[in-house]
Amino acid sequence: MIKNPIDAAVRRRFTAPLLEWYHSLGRDLPWRRTDDPYCIWLSEIMLQQTQVVTALPYYHRFLETFPTIKALASADLEAVLKLWQGLGYYARARHLHRAAQILVSQFSAKMPESFESVIALPGIGRSTAGAILTIAHGKCHPILDGNVRRVLCRFFAIERDPREKSVDAWLWHCSEMLMPKHNASHYLQAIMDLGATVCVPKQPSCTRCPVEKSCAARKKGLETLLPIRAPSKKVPHYDYFAGVLCVDNAVLIRRRPLKGLLAGLWEFPGERVAENSKQGSIVLAYERFFREHLGLDTCECKPYMTIQHVFTHFKMTLHVFLHHSKKRVEAVFPFDWVERETLSERPFSSAHQKIVLQLTQKQNQGELF
Ligand code: SF4
Repeated sequence: MIKNPIDAAVRRRFTAPLLEWYHSLGRDLPWRRTDDPYCIWLSEIMLQQTQVVTALPYYHRFLETFPTIKALASADLEAVLKLWQGLGYYARARHLHRAAQILVSQFSAKMPESFESVIALPGIGRSTAGAILTIAHGKCHPILDGNVRRVLCRFFAIERDPREKSVDAWLWHCSEMLMPKHNASHYLQAIMDLGATVCVPKQPSCTRCPVEKSCAARKKGLETLLPIRAPSKKVPHYDYFAGVLCVDNAVLIRRRPLKGLLAGLWEFPGERVAENSKQGSIVLAYERFFREHLGLDTCECKPYMTIQHVFTHFKMTLHVFLHHSKKRVEAVFPFDWVERETLSERPFSSAHQKIVLQLTQKQNQGELF
């Protein structure tokens, strides 16, 4: 059990200098210039796994296209995924879309004010619900995202793995106890900013930190060693193949299932190959795939490009083949034939987007494929 009591003295040492720092040095971000819960919700979701600088252009484009919860709810999922393309973690976009539909059907297209209703929405966990309610609705709910967790682990010099259940529970308690009853919204944004700009993961800028004098990790010289991280697991590597099957100027693509990895995105047909496959057996697997799925007897394919991609839980080498055919095979959903110039209208995953870019560049250079 962690013993550090969070009393008024601790709150004074932490909260007051943090708020003072935020009021003079906090970041000026577009979602801080509005009290529209939709904008605040969108920013919270985008920032879950993405840095501010990357999220900003997406945030603006998203709101230009879907300016209201109603507009998002009535949009086609594919259009939402297309706008999200390149931001990764596509479940966030699907959940936003689904949650918008729930808000329209059950809450008159408004973000509710009760914690239970907000946390019940798809894609919203305890921390995100707390941030939305505190920032948009002026409530007072703690958060514990990665930035806040890191700041607290250092400020209190927690020398235990923050993923341990009891440590996690204490950090939530701590986050709640530190929140001022007034100005909770500014406090949350201040601690998020501190974690994102000063108390950063590898080299915290302690000399710029408003709570340096009271920080236990700083006093003990542990600031770069905390929070404790579990040893990283070896990330597995898999080989995949994909085929660019083309007839005249049309290309065959396939939509991924609506559940699971990269759900609902489009891709060039293919699959994972057995481990340690040599190039020859990848080609054989490729031919078998097109024979079994599309009834193509002869597959005169040639290597087109090789793409390396890193997912959160595995690395992928994608072997892409180009494959001309004289006539179109019948494409039944999830397969579809599309003209090359309209490929970029569909949402693709980052790896397959590289194939789209290559095809588009070749076309712009006047090459057939
Ligand atoms: S003093 Fe350093 S380690 Fe402590 S909270 Fe500030 S930036 Fe983080």
